[in-house]
This record gives sequence, C-alpha cells and structure tokens, in this order.
Amino acid sequence: MIIEPKVRGFICTTAHPTGCKENVKRQITYIKNLGEINGPKKVLVIGASTGYGLASRIAATYCLNASTIGVMFEKESNGKRTATPGFYNTMAFEEFADQDGHYAKSINGDAFSQEVKAQVIDLIKNDWGKVDMIIYSLASPRRTTADGTTYQSVLKTTDGEFTNKSWNLKDNTISEATITAATEEEVQGTVKVMGGEDWIDWMKALSDADVLAENATTIAFSYIGPKLTYPVYYNGTIGMAKKHLQESASFINENFKSKGLHAYISVNKALVTQASSAIPIVPLYFAILYKVMKQKNIHEGCIEQIGRLLHEKLFSDSIPVDEEGRIRLDDYEMRPDIQEEVMDIWNKINSENIEELADIEGYWEDFYHMFGFHFENIDYSVDVEL
Ligand code: NAD
Repeated sequence: MIIEPKVRGFICTTAHPTGCKENVKRQITYIKNLGEINGPKKVLVIGASTGYGLASRIAATYCLNASTIGVMFEKESNGKRTATPGFYNTMAFEEFADQDGHYAKSINGDAFSQEVKAQVIDLIKNDWGKVDMIIYSLASPRRTTADGTTYQSVLKTTDGEFTNKSWNLKDNTISEATITAATEEEVQGTVKVMGGEDWIDWMKALSDADVLAENATTIAFSYIGPKLTYPVYYNGTIGMAKKHLQESASFINENFKSKGLHAYISVNKALVTQASSAIPIVPLYFAILYKVMKQKNIHEGCIEQIGRLLHEKLFSDSIPVDEEGRIRLDDYEMRPDIQEEVMDIWNKINSENIEELADIEGYWEDFYHMFGFHFENIDYSVDVEL
C-alpha cells in the first residue's frame, strides 16, 4: 500500500512504517556517536514508543548498554488502517536492538492497569531478576483506575479564561484563542491522569514483588516554560498534575528510602510530540522558540535532550539540580537571552510575518517525522506492508 499523511488538526491519522524506522535509526545513530557511559543495565521505560520515552529507551540501550523493557499503548494495523507510529517505532527499535545484540522486549497495553504491571513484573522476574532504572514517560488523555473509574485529562486554565495569540495550523494564520477555566472535577481528573499517583503505584508494585534492585533510580518528566504559557501550562490543569508529579518524587524518595530508591524529576524542553501538539497556544511558542534556538545553535530534539540527561546530568559525579531538587534540561530554553528574544517576537508576530519570524518549517518537519513522513531519503511511492 502507498501511505500518505492524513493530517487532521494537530494529529496525523496515518503513519509510515519505513519512515518511522528511519526516525528510530537516526536517533540511534546520534546516540551511538555520544559514546557509552556507566549506569544501570536493566531499564524499564513506561511510555517507551514515542517522544521522550522512545528517546530514553534508545539512549538507555546505546549509552548505558542496557537491556530494556518498554511499555506502550499503541494500535496495530487492521490491514486497512496503518498502525500508530509508536507501534512501528517499537518494531523498528526491537529489530535494531536485536541486530546489535541488546535485549529489548515490549508490552503493548494499558500501563495504568494492574494486569500490565503484573505482566512487566513477571517478565522482570523471569528474564532479569531485578530492575535498576525506571523511566516514567506516560502522556495520556485518560486513565481507568482499579475501581473502574475513568478520569480524563484536560488542557484548561485553573483561574478564569485566558486569551492570547494562537497559530492556526491549517492555514498559517494567527488569530486569538481562548482557553476556558476547568471545573474542580476537571482539575482533579487531570491530576489523576498526568500526576504521580500511577508512578507511585508502579514503585509499590515493583517493590512488593521484590523486583526493585537496591539503589535503583526512577525518573519522570515535567515542563515549566515561560510566564507567557503559565495560564495554559504551569498554572493550568496540566501544571497542577506536574506539581503532583513533583510531590510524588518526594513521596517515593521518602517511602522507599530503605531500598535506596532515588526518584528524580527532569524538567525538559518544549518539543513537538503527539502529546504537546494538542495544547492550544503552545505551538506558536514552540515555532518561535525553535527559530531562536536554531539561530543560536542550541536547538535540541528528544534524543539530544535525553543524551544530555544521561551524559551530563543523571550519571555525572554529582547530579546538578535546582533549589527544588529538579534536573533542568530546559536550561537552554529558559536562558534569559532566549526568552527575551522569544517574547520580542511573540509581541510582533502576525499572519503576515509568521513565516519569517517563526520556524514554521521546522515545526512541520518535526510533526511529519513523528509519523514517519517527509524523510528526504525515503521513497514514499514504494508499496509497503502495513
Ligand atoms: P508522547 O505522546 O510522545 O508519548 C507518550 C507515551 O505514553 C507513548 O509511548 C504512549 O504509547 C504511552 N502511553 C500513553 N498512554 C498509555 C497507557 N495508558 N499505557 C501505556 N502507555 C501509554 O509524549 P511526550 O511528549 O514524550 O511526553 C512524555 C512525558 O514528557 C510526559 O510526562 C510529558 O508531560 C513530558 N514532557 C513533554 C514535553 C514536550 O514538550 N513534549 C516537555 C517536557 C516534558
């Protein structure tokens, strides 16, 4: 079948297997060039098929020379529709890892469920004995808890309506978008889905099953961003969930002290992923940020970020953290000179000058690459198996 991109708003409903493989291959090539470092050898990645989780799995394999178990929630092809990109990414990753002699097994199912936790524990028991690093990189719109309740995550403010410039992805115009305030129930729902409760559940399950190695490390990812996006992100519903994630790191450190488990939060850079392109107002900030960071030669994608996390932060002699104990991979993004320039552009950007002032091309390149499209070395006119 010939597969073409079908873009609907902030999502593409098709994915290209050969292109997804190319995406994985490029990340592997980048990370191999950074070289190997000492670190954990049995790494569980929860949310391992796209974005930061996929980059983490690749980096753990090729920087740490680690075996990995990846958990993800992806759709297989039904013969008519393509599979989701995370499905193709995982197939490709396993193939490369296998060729290079690395253990890589994946569980495709709901990470929030008891069943998947039990499957992972069985696999660890059978194949590894214990796990020494857990990377928690879930981004999900919903979560069903053990009692059968389904909670939804929403992207809203917590303090009244917020109106600001927004980029209309369909026609590259700029108009205003208004984000409404969440109800208390919606705030709580978002915290249930994107907060740290399930991260803690994972640690409890692994610990109770006695598959957590002594002095293991666990890390989850957060975002802060500039004041501009505070109403929709940092002080919005998702920000409340991220505060809960931060508190959960403290809870894990306190409650699993006897096992020597260390929990970290890494505050990462804003990047185009399936999760982040769904946030209103934010894509325009991304496109301006890309422009400014590329001009200064400090732009990074997920793999460059995670490469730096392993090489310069997590496994350095003393882990550099901020006053709240967080690792800051957003250090370049938040540099005052970068933010000043971004704000300057934000104030003057409009439909006429958007192509000149923002990295529209770079945004779309990242977007299409996520789904396996627009790689210049792939022949998209060739028939492929779904
Ligand atoms: P993503 O959408 O690319 O990846 C999400 C992953 O979670 C995928 O592997 C998906 O299969 C998996 N997943 C979703 N629901 C699942 C479920 N129920 N069971 C099992 N797996 C499930 O997202 P991302 O942007 O890489 O986000 C990962 C983390 O990084 C999130 O915590 C996010 O807030 C954080 N983060 C993202 C950015 C950004 O700009 N993208 C910046 C900083 C921090």
